[in-house]
Amino acid sequence: MKGQIQVIGCKSCTEIPQLIDMNKLIEKASTMDLVVSTVLVGAVCDSKSIKQVVQEAKEREVDRVVVLACPKKVVNPALLAAFKKAKVNEFLVEYVNIRDEVVLPHMNDPPRAQAKAETMMVAALQKVMGLKPLETLKEQMRTRNVVVLGGGASGRKAAETAAKTGAHTIIIEKGTKSFKAPGVLMQNSVLLKSKGYGGNFVLTIRAGEKVEELECAAIVVATGGGWTTLNGPLAKACKSALPLYELDEQIRAGKKMEGPIVIVDSPDPAGKSMQVRDYAWDESLELAIELKRRSTDSDITIVFQEMRAFGLSELRYKEAAELGVRFIRYDPTGIPKIDPKEPNVISVKDLAQGETIRLRFGTLAFASIPANDDNEGIADTLRIPMSPDGGIRHGSIQRGPVSTPRPGIFVCGSALFPKTKDIAEEEGMVAGELAGEFASKGIIEYGGSVAEVTQEKCSACLTCIRTCPYEAPFIGIANKAEIRTQACQGCGMCVGICPSKAIELRNCTDDLIMQETKTMLRGDF
Ligand code: SF4
Ligand code: SF4
Repeated sequence: MKGQIQVIGCKSCTEIPQLIDMNKLIEKASTMDLVVSTVLVGAVCDSKSIKQVVQEAKEREVDRVVVLACPKKVVNPALLAAFKKAKVNEFLVEYVNIRDEVVLPHMNDPPRAQAKAETMMVAALQKVMGLKPLETLKEQMRTRNVVVLGGGASGRKAAETAAKTGAHTIIIEKGTKSFKAPGVLMQNSVLLKSKGYGGNFVLTIRAGEKVEELECAAIVVATGGGWTTLNGPLAKACKSALPLYELDEQIRAGKKMEGPIVIVDSPDPAGKSMQVRDYAWDESLELAIELKRRSTDSDITIVFQEMRAFGLSELRYKEAAELGVRFIRYDPTGIPKIDPKEPNVISVKDLAQGETIRLRFGTLAFASIPANDDNEGIADTLRIPMSPDGGIRHGSIQRGPVSTPRPGIFVCGSALFPKTKDIAEEEGMVAGELAGEFASKGIIEYGGSVAEVTQEKCSACLTCIRTCPYEAPFIGIANKAEIRTQACQGCGMCVGICPSKAIELRNCTDDLIMQETKTMLRGDF
């Protein structure tokens, strides 16, 4: 392999060109050893730009690439696919995250940001020369089953759309209510264990009294929200408090609610993230407007910490304010409190005035819903991460809002975070379609930057086997550790913990890391 490098600079997002002189950076790249092509594009994810850079790579016989843009997981996978077609090994493409690692931390110091960007580019050019071309291997999937965990609104939609792709769907539902669904519906059933990897999972399911094993190619987690439980400190202090959806149901059923009405943006404000509040905002505004329309003299206060009403929801805020809904933004250090001795009074420290306000209420509603209690067990069994809200964490909001970091596992609806039924159903449709498409590929591609054991160094201590969250290492016939490459996610945990230093991640070796670290430390920024 010759070592002919192409450097691609992207000036798409608003922050990068504001702070970094990308022309200067690309000019500098063109003076570096082995760089045979430099291209500055408007947006590296754009199909025209992809065509342009790949064409140039072919003409200049490029075999390694450095991309100066945003995080790897955000860059369009079509770029990698195009390079693959142009015979550039996908593991010889190195990404420099200019946006998150240079621009955002140094917003107020452009010279420093420029110097750091240059140093990171130099480190990436050195690193890309140390990378080895890696292979991906293929394995046949044993089934086209798609398992959907949860038979609520999003789960049913997921099963419907997955079935349309030709997949055989199985809904695992812990309740006993029967409903129409494609494929098989297993009621009174829960997931106990999982083995395998995307394309060839083996799940252990308890169905009633029986325990059975089920093979599937893909999984959709659609466990729903914890609709019936309010367990924050405020809810505990005021037993008559309602989740917002219940207030909504009661109003729509014609019940007259006792005033004044106070809506708080979360049942446990201290522990909730933005995502929960986004949902809370939309719902709170909609309901407050509805209440005001029904009775103009109703006394409604919305108590909130962060205003996150997007798009048309901003108009709802304006409308609610014009209708006379009162808004109180509380100081995060003085979150709403209810004294159990006075369960109909909520005190809140107003951020603007710095004073504590006491609000007497007839009805108290909490505008968000705790995550489903089942999520933790499911995340643990499937070895997928959770968000601080108690939901399942998705892969990348831009490129995979219903994917998880594990290939073949998708997530939708309130399993991610509380949301309205409409949005949950839409997410279910997307997750179902992706799971169906994943299962229809019929083959699993694996390999690349995965763990590798140097058997001579292995003392068969089993530490890696106990540590790996994906059950990838095992003791092979030579009584030494081996890696089940299909299962390895390249997380590196076994590398760090092996007492004999017998494991390395391909293309992420100690030498490469040390070289990169030294270059960064020498940088003048
Ligand atoms: S942790 Fe290291 S020494 Fe122990 S079994 Fe795994 S590879 Fe071998
Ligand atoms: S890098 Fe090691 S710990 Fe991580 S998935 Fe692969 S084998 Fe398991």
